[in-house]
Amino acid sequence: MQIMISGIPVEVCKKDIKNMHLYVKPPNGKVSVSAPLNMSDEAIERFVRSKSSWIKKHVNKFEGQPHKSQREYVSGETLYVWGKQYFLQVQYGTGKNMLVLSGDKAILTVRKGSTAKQRDNFVKEWYRELLKREVARLLPKWEELTRLNCDSWQTKYMKTRWGTCNTVTRKIWLNLQLAQKNPECLEYVILHELLHLIEKNHNARFLSLMDTYMPYWRQIKRQLNGQDY
Ligand SMILES: [Zn+2]
Repeated sequence: MQIMISGIPVEVCKKDIKNMHLYVKPPNGKVSVSAPLNMSDEAIERFVRSKSSWIKKHVNKFEGQPHKSQREYVSGETLYVWGKQYFLQVQYGTGKNMLVLSGDKAILTVRKGSTAKQRDNFVKEWYRELLKREVARLLPKWEELTRLNCDSWQTKYMKTRWGTCNTVTRKIWLNLQLAQKNPECLEYVILHELLHLIEKNHNARFLSLMDTYMPYWRQIKRQLNGQDY
């Protein structure tokens, strides 16, 4: 089901939950609402309409932000690493590309004629190395705590999801963009995907497992998804 609010599509998703939640998700500002299973479509629509100014405000905020693909990787742009903001300083070299963090600067060394796409590819791989190092450290910690083990894991750039878990192959995928967020966001996603190994759905059992292992997970989820309440 989908509701249109001033030309903005709002995806409705019914779940085994107690309260309605409205989200505007990065990176594109996609709007979705989750509602309790027994709530009528009219009541959901009424709720969403009552939040129309909130929705418009937050969607606009996303549209005002430069999307990753539109970045040019020139000095003055901002870059987030583990939740901290850095200002990009581009310098030219003839050797290897490099990205070094120093104070609040992210010093990117690239070839002068390189395109935004080539710089983007380099920065993505830089994030990947950073993320892989943290996953290698944090995944065993959560596997031990939950006594759940995945068979393999990999990182990739995803537009709409922070992580996925294939319960058949027991493989976990983690979004490269997690390296831009606070490290606790990565821990939250790791735990979430591990729990899918024993519970596929986001049902009451899943939520209570989340509560057991990470009582403050809702706060982190809000941070991750730009959700206000
Ligand atoms: Zn999930």
